[in-house]
Amino acid sequence: MAIRNIVKKGDEVLNKRCKEVKEINTRVLELLDDMTETMYEGNGVGLAAPQVGILKRIAVIDVGDGLLELINPVIIESEGEQIEVEGCLSVPGVYGKVKRPQRVVVEYLNRDGEKTHTEGTGIKAICISHELDHLDGVLFDEKVIEFVEYENDEKEKD
Ligand code: ZN
Repeated sequence: MAIRNIVKKGDEVLNKRCKEVKEINTRVLELLDDMTETMYEGNGVGLAAPQVGILKRIAVIDVGDGLLELINPVIIESEGEQIEVEGCLSVPGVYGKVKRPQRVVVEYLNRDGEKTHTEGTGIKAICISHELDHLDGVLFDEKVIEFVEYENDEKEKD
């Protein structure tokens, strides 16, 4: 595994729509492993492939209840709303309140290529929604309804 460089806002790779993964080969598995390591190294709770410069529909998430590896994820159910402060490893030092669903169900392929799904509520729903936005080239700061200043830089980052 290896730590990859995190692409920062301003790089156009973050504004592009990612392509579906057609085949889960060793490069995809290596990418998943590297993204996970890079996310943990950056103290993030999620990371999407374009954040390491790869335009594939892949994201990793860990909000404290275990690692979730999402390949070709699609939100198939969404309900309610919540407004919480978000940050992003690709938009350092910027935090703001964003409106997200309270609960989502996401369908995806796991690393064995099996179609499966998981439910997320609270911060997990936020994180799933934030990472899936990355796969469509959308950064959270475009959705911020109120920016927030922090004294230190310890807020969780997606
Ligand atoms: Zn992000």
